[in-house]
Amino acid sequence: MPLYEYVCSKCGCKFELLRPISQSNEQAPCPSCHHEAERVLSPFTSLSKDSSGLTTPVGGSSCSSCSAASCNSCNL
Ligand SMILES: [Zn+2]
Repeated sequence: MPLYEYVCSKCGCKFELLRPISQSNEQAPCPSCHHEAERVLSPFTSLSKDSSGLTTPVGGSSCSSCSAASCNSCNL
């Protein structure tokens, strides 16, 4: 089963859940407050190819200083 990432809009906590693809768009209960959490696209599944053929990560950044997913210039 694929792993999906969810973010709770109430407490802001982030968690991952293994679910069948058929349930991937459904909301999941937050483990902390049991509020319905929205699915977010993980960096692994949100890779999109633009017209130039380059793979560009959308959303999800490992660098807090810039928006690059893999950043060598702002080592913190
Ligand atoms: Zn929550």
